[in-house]
Formats: sequence, structure tokens, C-alpha cells
Amino acid sequence: MPTKKCKALLSQLSEYVDGTLDPRLCKVLERHLKTCEDCRVVLNTMRKTIDLYRTVGESQAIPNEVRERLFYRLDLSEYLKKRP
Ligand SMILES: [Zn+2]
Repeated sequence: MPTKKCKALLSQLSEYVDGTLDPRLCKVLERHLKTCEDCRVVLNTMRKTIDLYRTVGESQAIPNEVRERLFYRLDLSEYLKKRP
């Protein structure tokens, strides 16, 4: 089960994948990913989906719509709402 820490980090995962996350937070996230398989699975799924999207789409950025669909599919929709 994802912990409270997982939830906090997963809400930043899309920024991490986009490369827009604060470098300090990236380090925190990467450290956590080494020890947490749940989060690694989410990250891998997100990366794959984004790769697929970039192959098909023209834009480099992931539209919110795609991101939201992904979070819903992963059953992580609650993380979307937690963003400040
Ligand atoms: Zn985790």
C-alpha cells in the first residue's frame, strides 16, 4: 500500500517525468524510488505512456488531459486533486 510519503511524491511524478521538478525534490524522489516498488511501477507506467504519446503526438509536453487519464487508470486520481 502506498504510504503518505508515496502520495506526496507521486503527486510530483509528472513534473519529474517532464523534467520541470525542482532538482532537490528530484533527489528526494529518486532516493524514495530506490526503496519503493509501488512508486517505481507508477513511474515506469507513466514513462511508457508518455513515450507512446510522444511517438504518436506532435507535442513534447503531456497535456493535462493525458496526464489525468493516466492517473485515473492507475487509480491515482486522488493525487491529482492534492496538487497545490
Ligand atoms: Zn513509494
